[in-house]
Amino acid sequence: MFEMRRVLVVPIGRVFGPWLERFLRELSDFWRVQVELSRPITPPAAAFHPRLRKFFAPYVTEFLRSVSGEVDFVLGVCGEELYSPRSPLVFVEVSFSSRSALVSARNLQEFLFGTEPERLLVERLRKESIRALGHLLGLGSCPDPLCVMHPPSSLMELDLKGTDFCPQCRMRLQMLHLVRGEVRAAP
Ligand SMILES: [Zn+2]
Repeated sequence: MFEMRRVLVVPIGRVFGPWLERFLRELSDFWRVQVELSRPITPPAAAFHPRLRKFFAPYVTEFLRSVSGEVDFVLGVCGEELYSPRSPLVFVEVSFSSRSALVSARNLQEFLFGTEPERLLVERLRKESIRALGHLLGLGSCPDPLCVMHPPSSLMELDLKGTDFCPQCRMRLQMLHLVRGEVRAAP
């Protein structure tokens, strides 16, 4: 089991906007860890599928480790369209071997609504990044549709779920001894 003290966030492709800073701050506040922002990178050409015109999420996730140096976890925020063998709609991809995860800003930017669409985007990114890092810390998927560890099958499900762990997931995290020290999710 790995501890989480430093997380490097890597923007991949077309990722920009004032929401990025806000997202980093919220991620840092939630996990109470140091969150750093790297220079943006272009997605690896080898991951591009010319017919689908999308990038292969598992490859991009592994690739993140090669650009990240000595940090505990790497989180890519991808502005390009992604695909995966498991699902045509990729919100999150995780690689345990490289301690890296990927969230799709591109897919989470679809169907933004309300008076503050940017706030909704940050909330979606926050939820799915917490889930991605939760997986890397040893949590599984949760059947509770309101728990942040629930894997949403649509943006609607994502918008309906909460931004925090259910009691069972929080307890599991505590049993994994990850709430001690610097790895504590905000109460
Ligand atoms: Zn849960």
